Amino acid sequence: MTEIKSLTFDELSDEISKLNLPKFRTEQIYRWLHKEGVNSLDEMTNLSKDLRAKLCENYFIATCEIEDKYVSKIDGTVKYLFRLYDGEYVESVVMKYKYGYTICISSQVGCKMGCKFCASTLAGFKRNLLSAEMESQIHSAQNDLGVRISHIVMMGIGEPLDNYDNVVKFMRTVNDEKGINISLRDITVSTCGVVPGIFRLMDENIPVTLTLSLHAPFDDMRSKMMPVNDKWGVDEIISACKEYAQKTSRRVSFEYTLINGVNDSEACAKALAEKLKGFGAHVNLIPVNDVEERGNVRSSDSVINNFKDTLKSLGINATIRRTLGKDINASCGQLRRKKKSGD
Ligand code: SAH
Repeated sequence: MTEIKSLTFDELSDEISKLNLPKFRTEQIYRWLHKEGVNSLDEMTNLSKDLRAKLCENYFIATCEIEDKYVSKIDGTVKYLFRLYDGEYVESVVMKYKYGYTICISSQVGCKMGCKFCASTLAGFKRNLLSAEMESQIHSAQNDLGVRISHIVMMGIGEPLDNYDNVVKFMRTVNDEKGINISLRDITVSTCGVVPGIFRLMDENIPVTLTLSLHAPFDDMRSKMMPVNDKWGVDEIISACKEYAQKTSRRVSFEYTLINGVNDSEACAKALAEKLKGFGAHVNLIPVNDVEERGNVRSSDSVINNFKDTLKSLGINATIRRTLGKDINASCGQLRRKKKSGD
C-alpha cells in the first residue's frame, strides 16, 4: 500500500498513468487530497465507485483523526490530540491572532533531542511524521473549525530538521496554490540547532522563517539544558543563523525560555545581546511552562521584564511571549504522554 497524500503532483501523475487512467484524474485527486483534505478515498465523489475501489486497493491516506479536543475558555485556543493511521498520537494547537489563525504542528512522534525542560521527549521517540501527516493536522483542524488557517509554526512535538526531507516536502506542498496555499513567509521552522539542517534549508529556495531555540548564551549552561549543544555549540549555531538571514533575507528569531535561577540572570542577558548583535535578530522571551516531571520554575515577571529591558538597552529587539491556552495546557507534548501512560 502506498501513502497517496505524501506524493508530489508529479509523483501522483506517474501513479495515475501506471494505472492507465486519463491525465485529468491527477488534478481531481490532488484537489481532494490537498485542497479539501478528505479523510478517505471514498469521499472523492466525482470519481466512479469502480475507480475509488481500484484506488483503495493500492493506496491509503495518512489522516489525523481527532481523538481529543480542548477549547480554552480564556482565549479560544484549541488543542487537538490526533490519532495517526498506526495508532500513534501527536498534538496541534490552533491560536487566533489579529492577523488570522496560526497552527502549531508536530513534525515527529516524540523527539530524540532530550531537552531537559521539554515534555515531548519524555515518552520517547517513535517515528518521523510523513509529509501528509503534517498537512493532515492542518486539514483536520480547518475542517473541524470551519476557518482558514493562514500561518504555520513547527513548534509542536519533534525536531523538524531531524525529519528534514519530509518537512521540506510538507512546506512545498502547503505553499502550492493547488493545495492549502500558505505563503512561505508565514511558515516558521523552529529548531534546537541542527546546524547541517540550517545550511541545507538556506539552499532550498524556500525562504521560510527560521526560529532558533537558544535558551542560553554559554555552552556549559546550554549543554546542561539541551544535550544537542554538545554537537553544535552556541557560536556555531549563531553563525549558521547569520548565514541563513543573509542568504534568505529573512530575519531570524531566537526563542529564550526563562527558568528561575537557571538562565535568567543579568549576565545572561548581556552575553546574549553581545552574541546576537549586528544582524537584526529578534528574541522571544518565554516564561517556562512547568512540566510535572521537570520541576522547572518560571522566572518572576520582574526578572522577565528586566531581562527584556537589558536586551533592548543593548540594541536587541525582544518581546515577551503571551501565554495562550493556559487552562488547556496548550504547550505541546503533554497530551501524547498522558495518552501513552493511560491516564
Ligand atoms: N524541536 C524544535 C521545535 C519544538 S519545541 C525546537 O526545539 O525548536 C518549540 C519551542 O518550545 C522550543 O523553543 C522549545 O525549546 C520550547 N519549549 C519546550 N518545552 C518548553 C517548556 N516546558 N516551557 C517553555 N518552552 C518550552
